[in-house]
Amino acid sequence: MRWERGRRSSNVEDQRGSRVARGIKGGGIGILLLALVGMFFGIDPAVILNLVGQMGGEQSVTTTDYVPSAEENRLAEFVSVVLADTEDTWRDQFNRLDSGYVEPKLVLFSGAVESACGFAQAAMGPFYCPADQKVYIDLSFYQDLKDTMNAPGDFAQAYVISHEVGHHVQNLLGISDRVHAAREKLSEKDYNQLSVRLELQADCLAGVWAHHADRVRQIVEPGDIDEALNAASQIGDDRLQKQARGYVTPDSFTHGSSEQRARWFRQGFNSGDLNSCNTFEAESL
Ligand SMILES: [Zn+2]
Repeated sequence: MRWERGRRSSNVEDQRGSRVARGIKGGGIGILLLALVGMFFGIDPAVILNLVGQMGGEQSVTTTDYVPSAEENRLAEFVSVVLADTEDTWRDQFNRLDSGYVEPKLVLFSGAVESACGFAQAAMGPFYCPADQKVYIDLSFYQDLKDTMNAPGDFAQAYVISHEVGHHVQNLLGISDRVHAAREKLSEKDYNQLSVRLELQADCLAGVWAHHADRVRQIVEPGDIDEALNAASQIGDDRLQKQARGYVTPDSFTHGSSEQRARWFRQGFNSGDLNSCNTFEAESL
């Protein structure tokens, strides 16, 4: 990805080095749960954060003597450029809908962070909090993406950001609210289906971003789209569940299968059109 000369976003909040700690009662099981759940990124933060919230405990914020390495600072810059590029893309797309795009903030944190959705730890992976309209990421996730999830490459890293920004777009369009409102009326299984559609739509929106990054700003290089498609499929629920437990149980999927995630990303990339991402009307996913 040709990103070095790209615009840096003014919406990055660097909170690396401030340490948020919260005592968790019965920590062992809680942390194990978080670690398992953390393998999925883009998880509905309400579920996990409430869980942690219920465990209670005291919260404290301290500053550490954390000094980012040159490599980490380069990654932070990379994230800033990707965020700026999503801002340019979505501003144009919202203009076409005669609507204004509200830019999300992106919080870089190290270890743990307090969001409007609750307390979060790096092990949960990157997430978007609708309540404060911020994307949260601990850059160490990128090491896991490469080493544990077999998804190397800068465009795989960019896809992670653009997927979370996709959740922001869904929030602005009122789609996330409608899905969450349906929660009480639906069985767990049906709600899960709806939640898969929400995730696949975020993948499609990530593809829409990649389309415009490619056509308008020409920052996409040969092989980049394959990196994103590989990342989308490596983090599909079936793949992750297989790694974790050795078998898959489709009813508990919350993000879609590897094949579905890659297909919806491609759908958005090929069309460049928000309207092609209607996973809620699609007969088959
Ligand atoms: Zn997601």
